[in-house]
Amino acid sequence: MPFDLFALQMATSMAQTHAAEVRRTLDAFDSDAQQERRLERNECKRCFYLWQRVCGQAFTEYKCIACGSDERWHNTCCPKLCIPCAHRYRVCRRCTGDISMRKRKALEPRKRQKRSMA
Ligand SMILES: [Zn+2]
Ligand SMILES: [Zn+2]
Repeated sequence: MPFDLFALQMATSMAQTHAAEVRRTLDAFDSDAQQERRLERNECKRCFYLWQRVCGQAFTEYKCIACGSDERWHNTCCPKLCIPCAHRYRVCRRCTGDISMRKRKALEPRKRQKRSMA
């Protein structure tokens, strides 16, 4: 494509579109727009909103890096942890960081106090 006014206008338009997409993505990240779906997938905000993955369409075997259980995933972008381990440690299955991206001082967070049944 030659460099002319049309090329300049196209490039400007693409730059504006890209910037607007990044802004929308960051807005969704900041507001945790799909929190319910994100927590169902056991992913932190970074992995859910900001990490673009290219996955192959093939069932893939993987081992949970915490407990070693054999797992299966519906494409080639496997998580690192099984669901019970993600819940137990309250971490993201993808990056293994804290599910709320908070600083942590213990591998296993303290259990929430159970409400009394009285
Ligand atoms: Zn596990
Ligand atoms: Zn993550």
